[in-house]
Amino acid sequence: MALCDACKRREAVYLRTYSGQKLCKTCLRRTLERAVRRAVSEAGGLPPRSRIVIPVTFTAPHLSLALLDVAARVERRFGSEIVALVPNEVEVFNLSLLNDIGVRVMRLSVSPPKEASLSECLRFDVAWSAHVASSIGGNAVLLPITLTDRILATLDSIILGMAWLVPDSIISRNVGSVKIIHAFGTIEGETVAAYVAGMGIEAWSPCKVRSPSKKIFYSIAYKRPELEYSALKTISKLSKLARRGRTCKMCGGPIFGKGGESVCSICERLKPTERINLKPSR
Ligand SMILES: [Zn+2]
Ligand SMILES: [Zn+2]
Repeated sequence: MALCDACKRREAVYLRTYSGQKLCKTCLRRTLERAVRRAVSEAGGLPPRSRIVIPVTFTAPHLSLALLDVAARVERRFGSEIVALVPNEVEVFNLSLLNDIGVRVMRLSVSPPKEASLSECLRFDVAWSAHVASSIGGNAVLLPITLTDRILATLDSIILGMAWLVPDSIISRNVGSVKIIHAFGTIEGETVAAYVAGMGIEAWSPCKVRSPSKKIFYSIAYKRPELEYSALKTISKLSKLARRGRTCKMCGGPIFGKGGESVCSICERLKPTERINLKPSR
């Protein structure tokens, strides 16, 4: 049996490819807790006793459940309240596991697009959850966007000739008075996925997410896992270079175009706030 490289006491269950570090279940969770704390602090921090909203997203519902588990442990110390938004449209198995970690679960109905690009799905998730957060007095939305998602979204934007979407990969932004934080934005998706697998929670999104760069990226990153961390520097620089102009009032992302519109073309088309029903029939 291999011992955990971090605590040197418990049995290792996971090999972190990029660092070669073997971790036990507890140290894996601590790694994710550190990543969430770092993302929140890079976003400028949150006041104590915040009301933090964490949606089960259509982009990555299973990672959302890991974020709920990890963020609840991190924020408990600051007396913050965590509200989980669970759309009926996402199929979640073992949701009862969340009861043990003391988060408030709010069921609602949100009808997602059948298919969307990664960038569209990310903006859709920000828009609907920020809208609900604002209506229940939440001051922050934490999303389970990983470092890998940030890189893929950036590469997709460039490949598809939509460079105005590059700033979406920044760790945080605002929608009105609600702060949006990409809570797993400093850690690779593979490690978060390993934690989810260990939790025994499964979730399925009805929205098919397209990412043209995914296949190419994984074929390279598979052999060079450290690539994700060097890519982080590049995307941070790119996002700073990207022109900051007007931002969408629904998703907080930059708007491309000269007109006087207050909503981006993605929110204009997907109409996220019109797809929410806070009083679902079931
Ligand atoms: Zn350990
Ligand atoms: Zn928008």
